[in-house]
Amino acid sequence: MSAMEGSWSVWSALCLALALLSAGCSAKQEKNNKCSVEHDVAIVGAGISGAYSAFKLKEDGLNIGMYEYSDRIGGRFYTEHLPDVPDQNVELGGMRLINKLHVLLQGLIKDLNLTEKVLLYGSDATYPSRVFRRNVSMTSEQFSSGDIPYNLTSEEKANQADLLRYLFRKLTGDSLDNVTEESVFDLTVPDGRKLYMLSTPEALSLVASPEAHSYLLNGNHFNNPNTSATDMVYYYFGSHGRQKYTGDDVLTIEEGFNQIVISAVDQFLQASRSHSIEKNMKLEAITGKAGKYVLQFRRTVTVDDETIELHHRESTTTVCAKKVILALPKYALSQLDWKPLRSKEYEDLLEGTFVAHTSKVFMSYENPWWIDQARYPTRVLDASGLGEVYDWGQSNLTGHWTLLVSYTKQMSTDTEWALNNGLDEGQIEGSTGGLADMIAGPDTVLPRIPGSVVGANRVTAPLKDYLYERLALAFGIPRCAIPEPVSSIARFWVKYPFGGGWVFSRPGYTFQELIKGYRRPSKNDDVFVVGNDYSARDTTGWSEGALWTVEQMMGEYF
Ligand SMILES: Cc1cc2nc3c(=O)[nH]c(=O)nc-3n(C[C@H](O)[C@H](O)[C@H](O)COP(=O)(O)OP(=O)(O)OC[C@H]3O[C@@H](n4cnc5c(N)ncnc54)[C@H](O)[C@@H]3O)c2cc1C
Repeated sequence: MSAMEGSWSVWSALCLALALLSAGCSAKQEKNNKCSVEHDVAIVGAGISGAYSAFKLKEDGLNIGMYEYSDRIGGRFYTEHLPDVPDQNVELGGMRLINKLHVLLQGLIKDLNLTEKVLLYGSDATYPSRVFRRNVSMTSEQFSSGDIPYNLTSEEKANQADLLRYLFRKLTGDSLDNVTEESVFDLTVPDGRKLYMLSTPEALSLVASPEAHSYLLNGNHFNNPNTSATDMVYYYFGSHGRQKYTGDDVLTIEEGFNQIVISAVDQFLQASRSHSIEKNMKLEAITGKAGKYVLQFRRTVTVDDETIELHHRESTTTVCAKKVILALPKYALSQLDWKPLRSKEYEDLLEGTFVAHTSKVFMSYENPWWIDQARYPTRVLDASGLGEVYDWGQSNLTGHWTLLVSYTKQMSTDTEWALNNGLDEGQIEGSTGGLADMIAGPDTVLPRIPGSVVGANRVTAPLKDYLYERLALAFGIPRCAIPEPVSSIARFWVKYPFGGGWVFSRPGYTFQELIKGYRRPSKNDDVFVVGNDYSARDTTGWSEGALWTVEQMMGEYF
């Protein structure tokens, strides 16, 4: 697949038109219940969890078929290349791993002979990160311990350097020095409630002044009424938060992050003739029982990363398998037609997490206009809507430079997504990262800006204008000092099949009940669920969690 300019050929346009036409013919669809193929194991989803499952089973002498919704292997590992900076990996999804935190992923990378390298983008080695809040640009050090544009109380000011810990200690009466996945659920607040019953903003409002609340939560992705306070406490003070990592521990993959998935699938395919993968197959329903499951797939077509379901007579296929591994995002799993997923208990578990929207916009330039600025950082953390901004470095081939202009989470993602699709900012007021679900129908097709990729990842003028206004503020330069980009790409993780980038626990749920419950929806069935959205909290949001769920499943059931 190519999302680059010029690939929007006559064929692509025809193909999409055909798909759209057939998509309107759902009344004529027919179900074909004869097994087209019988597998020992069917793996559905070609993201890292599906690929790792396939890789682990590759020497077991089984007939294994993989199935993937789109034409792309990688899922939320998605590396692209812009035409004028072809040697730079533009990472639209996962982009970094942490030494000794991504233990399973590092093992896989080694097995696949891929190359780890230090992630320079956003590294503080050359220039410190900056924080942009309330129209003030500060270094990270100033933000954590110097003058800030927030009117903290004297008690809060005295504890500014470690204010989050100070306030959560005050709230829970716990030192927070030894928080574990179990003990975090024993924490209580002064009125006797368990901390996990409260959302992060609600919990902090019990002990923080309104100014400290804003200081800690503006632009922070835990700032959401759907996110349990224990998620934030565990993230910052659990075993991961207690580790001390240096810049050299933050790594990326020379060959591109999605090569981890592609190489694992390649090795799986090469290991046996009984291994196969079929792309553009959407799993819609499962019937049958132990020994023989019947999987109903619908064919899809993908053009420039836009995947559309086909609805004509030949568009469904039936596959049979003795065991099924569902390596799907929670958002897609929730829409799958299989009876055990509709049980009250399982639906309640699925309700227990919140899928967070996220997005990235990259732009390339002939010159690094941001480097000459007094406020030059390698990374800016911005609460005005840009999210995080990273200097993505220079192409060795063309000398052009790339900026990760905006890496957003939740509300800011919705704002950018709406603008990119021609909607008004006013239409999304109050959204907490669910807007794209509320708006039915396909995205509006505004024209892309010159140099933007075509298709689903295009950049349109309203989005560019919005980003440029904020870049000018964050860098303290006039808007007209920012040149037009040579090329650009925007990826929004909001819609089917992903629904978002990662999940948070909702208030009222504990990690253990969620994680254990997800793995096997019915104890009578050999149908298993893996993926990051069902992982341990230590690694939740990180791909490592996806591999962890595979290890757990393999250990128990294979
Ligand atoms: C913007 C962003 C930045 C991130 N940064 C990092 C990072 O720096 N480091 C890190 O470790 N992690 C990061 N992550 C998280 C990481 O990318 C994910 O945790 C991981 O890729 C999830 O893998 P998975 O296999 O669980 O799911 P996915 O990658 O989502 O794979 C699921 C696959 O299933 C397919 N599918 C869905 N429905 C169906 C269906 N009905 N039929 C057939 N196939 C279907 C999908 O098309 C997809 O290919 C980031 C994620 C995002 C979005």
